[in-house]
Amino acid sequence: MSAEQAAGVTLTGISKTFGDFTAVQPMDLSIPQGSFFALLGASGCGKTTTLRMIAGLEQPTAGRVMLGDRDVTSLPPHRRPVNTVFQSYALFPHLSVQDNVAFGLRRRGKKQVHKEVEDVLELVELGPLARRKPAQLSGGQQQRVALARAIVNRPEVLLLDEPLGALDLKLRRQMQLELKRIQTEVGITFVHVTHDQEEAMTMADTIAVMNHGRVEQLGAPAELYESPGSAFVANFLGQSNLIAAEISAAEGDELVLRAGDTKLTLPRDRMRATSAASGTKVLAGIRPEKIAIRSRSDEAAVPEGHNRLTGTIKDASFTGVSTQYVVASPWCPELAVFAQNVESAAGLTPGAEVVLHWNPAHTFGLDGDQD
Ligand code: ATP
Repeated sequence: MSAEQAAGVTLTGISKTFGDFTAVQPMDLSIPQGSFFALLGASGCGKTTTLRMIAGLEQPTAGRVMLGDRDVTSLPPHRRPVNTVFQSYALFPHLSVQDNVAFGLRRRGKKQVHKEVEDVLELVELGPLARRKPAQLSGGQQQRVALARAIVNRPEVLLLDEPLGALDLKLRRQMQLELKRIQTEVGITFVHVTHDQEEAMTMADTIAVMNHGRVEQLGAPAELYESPGSAFVANFLGQSNLIAAEISAAEGDELVLRAGDTKLTLPRDRMRATSAASGTKVLAGIRPEKIAIRSRSDEAAVPEGHNRLTGTIKDASFTGVSTQYVVASPWCPELAVFAQNVESAAGLTPGAEVVLHWNPAHTFGLDGDQD
């Protein structure tokens, strides 16, 4: 198997309505050939419907589906070079692992399937279990059989609909890395549907965050995390503090924001709001783990140029990896701070007056009129 067999997927003006309900709003989406692409979003946002339109299991209400340079919009599922792996494995219980994997090849009239089956079972590390029946396998092993069966006939695109949903957390994490390895080895374009942001971030090269039937933001995991374009994305991928502020001035590459009498600096290239004009209401975003916390009496130690906010600790809980604080400030009632290696943590208990500070480069700016 090689990347030459992969095809990119291009959706143009694609939409889907069921009666008078719009599940997928008209959208354009380009999935690069050979990439690991994730459709990420909460339940009901239209991920599965989008996937089913690529598979041909759902006919779009409008728009086109292209695989590479072929328009497949009107082709039935079995005529598309696409396979799907679902959460339910649907293995044949009476067939061995190798016969389950060989089934599709044999049905297509292929006689000599031994080598292909052996190769793919090796790829998913099931070689030694080839003669077992599905009932003699763990959930994770059954999922590998389903995966092997879906890639043995070399589709150009593999669609994965919450394939790890039935596995327990530990196995899920392990399989995420496995899937990534397998995708890299076979080079097929993987389109993976999930509601789990950590899963999407671990595996995907590119993530499309969906919300209410449309793509809210598209980008590499780190890009979406570091520079979310909306409050929805900022909070769907991890946790964010969003401080209500107003642009008061522009100074070179930096915007000066005001939240009451507090001044915050925002690099201009981190501004995602529609306007950067003075007086514009914005949200200044900062991730909890980017914030340092110290006692007010220790304020002199705050590095020059850092953004700073004062507040009172409402809650502090030690999680092992970090201490998580909730801090009330006049400009944000509940600021989350995830702090590691805090200096003089002893005094940082509920009721303590603190100063929060961070490098302005970690701040991001969003439109102020978001929910
Ligand atoms: P989940 O993670 O729960 O599967 P999803 O993001 O994959 O959610 P879809 O399955 O694409 O969401 O569904 C999007 C919306 O379209 C939902 O509100 C769903 O109820 C609706 N929907 C999906 N299929 C149909 C159908 N055949 N008839 C009517 N409504 C449908």
